[in-house]
Amino acid sequence: MSTVTDRVSEVTRAAVFQAFANPLVSNLVRRHGGRFGARRFVAGEALADAISVVARLERRGFRTSVQYVGESVTEPMLADAAADEYVAAADAFAQRGLRGYLSVKPSQIGSDLSFDHAVRNLERVLIAARAAGLSVRVEMEHAPSVEATLRLFERVRADHGNVGIVLQAYLYRSRDDLERLAPLRPDIRFVKGAYREPPDVAFPNKSDVDRNFRDLLFTHLERGGTAAAATHDGRIIEDARAYARAHTIPRDRLKFEMLYGIRVGLAERLLAAGEPIVVYVPYGTHWYQYFVRRLAERPANALFVLRSVLRR
Ligand SMILES: Cc1cc2nc3c(=O)[nH]c(=O)nc-3n(C[C@H](O)[C@H](O)[C@H](O)COP(=O)(O)OP(=O)(O)OC[C@H]3O[C@@H](n4cnc5c(N)ncnc54)[C@H](O)[C@@H]3O)c2cc1C
Repeated sequence: MSTVTDRVSEVTRAAVFQAFANPLVSNLVRRHGGRFGARRFVAGEALADAISVVARLERRGFRTSVQYVGESVTEPMLADAAADEYVAAADAFAQRGLRGYLSVKPSQIGSDLSFDHAVRNLERVLIAARAAGLSVRVEMEHAPSVEATLRLFERVRADHGNVGIVLQAYLYRSRDDLERLAPLRPDIRFVKGAYREPPDVAFPNKSDVDRNFRDLLFTHLERGGTAAAATHDGRIIEDARAYARAHTIPRDRLKFEMLYGIRVGLAERLLAAGEPIVVYVPYGTHWYQYFVRRLAERPANALFVLRSVLRR
């Protein structure tokens, strides 16, 4: 994709965020989320909603990764409550005999408060997850927090085999971070990167991000690593599958991970072809920002929702 196209999509994304920050729009969509299509991307507000979506997906052969939506928590009680929610989710998974992952954002469980606070909460979640036979994925947030997130992962990794991490292909530093993490033999989710980052830390051009995604993923696989390619980009997915075939990478070392409600047809085709597909299932009361991010990735969807809002 050209730089001009990259700029156009950047402007469109900014316009979507601005439109959905309007109080009239946000109040209406928050109040009647289901009517505006939020349920297409978010399981619901309660843990029970997530569990029923997970159970349905698992029955069809998908694996799942559940996220209790939230980030940038600055109240200790709320950070602890988010960790409690993940502990409850692990228990609920175990009771229903569900497998899967828990996806946790460090800033949701206290990393903006203190490093130790986040370590304490993450360890609680990891212990509950291990008892339930689950893994935990520590997610990567905006660039200034990457160093602390890597340290958090390094701190817990020695004692917890059920923890994985994320690397973002748009960051220049991710190549070095891959080297740094290699001795820990991490299970890594590779993503393009979701935050707006300046050109001194992240590739501004989509084509460079896509190239780096492949480089990071293939380097990790070549070294015997376990990976999740978390993308809806059909070309990258096909290249990863071709790489895995050519290098006889076993299926338990390369999973594909997609967001709930996005490119469902592609996910189903890959599943039918025998690929391990993890569906990322978000839930919780703070779903609005997550929903708007998904709309910003696909302006046609944003326009559809805005038209429905205007018709009311
Ligand atoms: C499972 C999972 C976990 C993630 N975890 C993190 C994380 O921890 N940290 C982080 O920074 N980012 C994370 N992300 C987000 C990621 O960084 C990207 O912002 C996001 O996945 C969009 O990029 P893409 O790889 O799908 O490629 P793109 O090039 O953006 O999209 C490829 C194609 O997918 C389709 N598509 C993409 N988005 C949509 C949409 N909303 N609606 C309809 N079609 C769409 C379009 O056809 C598009 O052409 C995660 C993504 C996934 C799938």
